[in-house]
Amino acid sequence: MKQVELTGIKQFEEKEVERPKPAADQALIKVEAVGICGSDIHAVHGKHPFMSFPIVLGHEATGEVVETGKDVTSVAVGDRVIYRPQKICGECLQCRTGHYNICDRLEVLGCQDTGASSEYYAVDADLLYRLPDGLGYAEGTLIEPLAVGVHAVRRGCAEISGKKVLVIGAGTIGNLVAQSAKGMGAGAVMITDVSEYKLDMAKACGIDYPVNVSKKDLKDEMTKAFGPDGADVVFECSANEHALNEVLNIARKGITIVIVAVYGGKASVEMANVQDREYSLVGTLMYLHEDYVEAIRLAEEKKVNLEKLISKRFDLTETAQAYQYIDDHKNDVQKVVLNVSHPS
Ligand SMILES: [Zn+2]
Ligand SMILES: [Zn+2]
Repeated sequence: MKQVELTGIKQFEEKEVERPKPAADQALIKVEAVGICGSDIHAVHGKHPFMSFPIVLGHEATGEVVETGKDVTSVAVGDRVIYRPQKICGECLQCRTGHYNICDRLEVLGCQDTGASSEYYAVDADLLYRLPDGLGYAEGTLIEPLAVGVHAVRRGCAEISGKKVLVIGAGTIGNLVAQSAKGMGAGAVMITDVSEYKLDMAKACGIDYPVNVSKKDLKDEMTKAFGPDGADVVFECSANEHALNEVLNIARKGITIVIVAVYGGKASVEMANVQDREYSLVGTLMYLHEDYVEAIRLAEEKKVNLEKLISKRFDLTETAQAYQYIDDHKNDVQKVVLNVSHPS
């Protein structure tokens, strides 16, 4: 079968490799679509701290089950599926207490272990989830980043219902955090960016208040939209220390600020504000099984719009062009999806 491997900075190699055999507890998936994630883009530029060459990328992938190992009962041949790309140890304290997304020995399939950029891919059956009917394979790849959004929302508050939410940064993850909050029952959601394209997209996805912070004052906009008490919870999805510091200056005292963005370097943060204004700065990483279930529910009940986020599609054999396209369209690209064709 065909497989695309990242062998160096912006270097992709298309290889012919043996089609994997599913183990007793695995299913073999005929891969249909692979989403390109921010972390993949870092890897392709050689800037991902926890990834090294060579690696087969792809952790947001969907496809059809074509073979199952002898012990598999949860899925069957013909099922349309997505998987949760987490390999965990099952033994560390976090794993033993249900926080396996922060397992001490966590490996992400497609980051530290072989990903799905190939015609077929074998996955542990207990990581598989059925795609809702009517959700296409390309849209389905967005279930994974949507689950990131769901988990972030749950890290932000026990109950999002009726809450006023501020999301900083309208990239794919910011958009999906905002859509998760909205879909899970938030009262009103504001999202900020400096890209009109991304803000228009947020609007088209049903986010109440897109705000271009290069043109408007965030504090004023918050007061106008949310009243004098401002937002109840903030999600930082921009990896921009100035934006974070602004939030630490203007957000209501005592609230939770969830750090969703992946910061490439050290941020200079006004810690005196965190202390004096009694903020809770909370991290969030990936997702749990329940978050996948919720993300699939949101997609199935059309509480989120995933298709809008797909900016462009390429064939797997055009992987290099796809990454070049992303580099060339930094301010007007959201999700790029690789379709996998199967010569019969
Ligand atoms: Zn991802
Ligand atoms: Zn563990």
